[in-house]
Amino acid sequence: METVKFEELQIDAAILRAIVDMGFEQASPIQAKAIPAVLGGGDIIGQAQTGTGKTAAFGIPLLQKINPKSKHLQAIVLCPTRELAIQVSEELRNLSKYLHGVKVLPVYGGQDITKQIRSLKAGAQVVVGTPGRVMDHMRRKTVKFDNINMIVLDEADEMLNMGFRDDIETILSDIPEERQTILFSATMPKPILEIASKFQKDTEIIKVVKKELTVPKIEQYYYEVRPRNKMEVLSRLLDVYAPKLSVVFCNTKRQVEETVEGLKGRGYFAEALHGDMKQLHRDRVMNGFRNGKVEILVATDIAARGIDVDDVEAVFNYDVPQDEEFYVHRIGRTGRAGRTGRAFTFIVGKEIYKLKDIQRYCKTKVLAQPIPSLSDVTDVKAEKILDQVNEIIENVELTKMIEIIEKKVNEQEYTTLELAAAFLKLNMGDTNEEIVVEPQRQRNYRDNKNNRGMVRLFINIGKKQNIRPGDILGAIAGETGMAGRLIGTIDVYDKYTFVEVPKEYSEDVINVMKDAKIKGKTINVEVANKR
Ligand code: AMP
Repeated sequence: METVKFEELQIDAAILRAIVDMGFEQASPIQAKAIPAVLGGGDIIGQAQTGTGKTAAFGIPLLQKINPKSKHLQAIVLCPTRELAIQVSEELRNLSKYLHGVKVLPVYGGQDITKQIRSLKAGAQVVVGTPGRVMDHMRRKTVKFDNINMIVLDEADEMLNMGFRDDIETILSDIPEERQTILFSATMPKPILEIASKFQKDTEIIKVVKKELTVPKIEQYYYEVRPRNKMEVLSRLLDVYAPKLSVVFCNTKRQVEETVEGLKGRGYFAEALHGDMKQLHRDRVMNGFRNGKVEILVATDIAARGIDVDDVEAVFNYDVPQDEEFYVHRIGRTGRAGRTGRAFTFIVGKEIYKLKDIQRYCKTKVLAQPIPSLSDVTDVKAEKILDQVNEIIENVELTKMIEIIEKKVNEQEYTTLELAAAFLKLNMGDTNEEIVVEPQRQRNYRDNKNNRGMVRLFINIGKKQNIRPGDILGAIAGETGMAGRLIGTIDVYDKYTFVEVPKEYSEDVINVMKDAKIKGKTINVEVANKR
């Protein structure tokens, strides 16, 4: 497996610095190919879907080509939905953190247009928008296309499916011909190729060529989780399966650090392994893992190359890998030398599609499993303690202890059963009964991409207003009286938040929240899937 470092891709130092802050260790395969191609100036079609790192694949070269001294609009990214437009502009903002004077502006339907006009007038070199709203601004002449030298169509197949073909063609026709046209699409249906032949020159198609992949024969399971529950689910799986040694994979250094911290906080012997660590430190961690002092290694893909330990019993994909090859490489850390092993993959929302790709390319099956319930965990823990108790009863002289218990039973009118149960509880440690893990809902991603029965709502406040998921959960639960556990995924961005609520409650939530304040701020709540 080839590793491509961002430093090898002729990326500006200011963007490289931002990439380091974001915790990316290596370029994903689509990035390794697309970044040089886009920097080279040609028209391309990138075939890649969400989760492969496609946004940064076009975003990095796009930002690098912006002239910060000019306040004119220089690049435009079209996205099928408001949510994607927001996600893309957040990623671009993160990447351009150290590019002084570069402004990225999302524009989409549903947002007050006069506010957008004001922001456009103030000057933005990059606009990320939905086709309908961009057309709107075009008609009002509130965006000027004269200085645009790059246009990106993100999730182009999705935009066509949503009926944006005419809008896209109108926009493309209006942008100066001396420009670079980049198209990203998960699939390559005929209309995509038609648009390419009409609006691109010498198109280069970029995709990641798949090698024949042989997957080790180990049991593979996946769990649908919410981001905030990943740590709880990981702990339960660790408790239920009790693997001697395990490797937990994350996509970024930052996530590795957070996960190690979380595991240590819960009393597990976990250590990090990532590319920033000095060789000496890495050797120390690996030695600890080999001799069992470290039971859980939390690693990025790049750091996991050298893990050649035979008795790894479980691999966890805390984040879904960005590429099929990474998946095979990761799970190959277990089941070595003819031993049995298990691989567990955590899936959030749309990532199910990526897992489907992985299964297709690797010709393997990853089975859905319900998250172990607390009572499963309790049973397993209790069984282990009772095994030890058996040993003690058989091998240890207990007369003195029996006398103490007898006295206690006589004095306090407890039964021996109660006392035994209390001792068991004492030995079990914390089993936090408060935490609610996502119920395994039956989902049908084919006819409805969202959770069935859930509606995604948009709220116009986010991290900039110090909002955290708990604030949203608390406000909705508090104002509407609905149980917090019914609320689904909460994604907080810089200025916006998306939250899932059950369909039957959505209208109530919108009505009640209209007059509510969160952290003292009046808010606007509406259904999310506006264009
Ligand atoms: P995308 O495919 O653009 O939707 O990206 C999926 C996620 O991967 C986003 O959260 C990105 O910030 C993240 N990401 C992008 N490139 C990398 C990389 N090279 N290493 C780790 N994470 C990345």
